[in-house]
Amino acid sequence: MRAIALLAAAVCLTAAEPLRVRLVTGGHSHDPEFYSVFMGDPRIKVTVEPHPNAYRGSRDRIDVLVLYDMIKAAGAPAREWLRAWVESGKGLVVLHHAICSFEDWEWWGDEVVGARYLNSPSRGMPPSTFFHDLELDIQVVKKHPVTAGVDNFHILDETYKGMWFAPKLELLLTTKHEKGDGPIGWIGPSKNARVVVLQGGHDKNAHLHASWQRLVRNAILWAGNR
Ligand SMILES: [Zn+2]
Repeated sequence: MRAIALLAAAVCLTAAEPLRVRLVTGGHSHDPEFYSVFMGDPRIKVTVEPHPNAYRGSRDRIDVLVLYDMIKAAGAPAREWLRAWVESGKGLVVLHHAICSFEDWEWWGDEVVGARYLNSPSRGMPPSTFFHDLELDIQVVKKHPVTAGVDNFHILDETYKGMWFAPKLELLLTTKHEKGDGPIGWIGPSKNARVVVLQGGHDKNAHLHASWQRLVRNAILWAGNR
């Protein structure tokens, strides 16, 4: 009994420690309000690291990688670092324009993110495009820890259109807006890492939106196995 109590105490202690989050920026301007989503939450401890420095060094002191950068191509060292990250089974959250990164890296788009923004014609498809400042109705289509406490919501945000998507994505959020593709949030297809992708998040209209903030925090906690 005493052993069980001690074990329970140890588990509680571990669970109380904040997740160590590396937030990767760079390659795309953004509103400073973006950082408000990471403040004041004792469950997460965020360090901001611009690329390409973010994709090197020890991975041991990071629990969840949150990408809000945009980088066209990755050199071999960055690819190796990211591949090792994914294969280690750790958490990854891909936000908004980070979906457009690593266009030339098929494994990343096909097997990790589960979507590819096409900057040029590819796979028999024309280039993808984007639309700013759309009034979007977002539907929560699956009960999941990432959507916990989030109901259908309305938001002013950007959509991408004409992206390639992996088959059988685990969809969490969609929109029926004609200037969107449908999927707005999903679980990536990685067999190892816990990957959450949220397509929205262009500017402060999203960054300060309670539902978007909740989704991002939920995504970090789920990706970090909490
Ligand atoms: Zn944007």
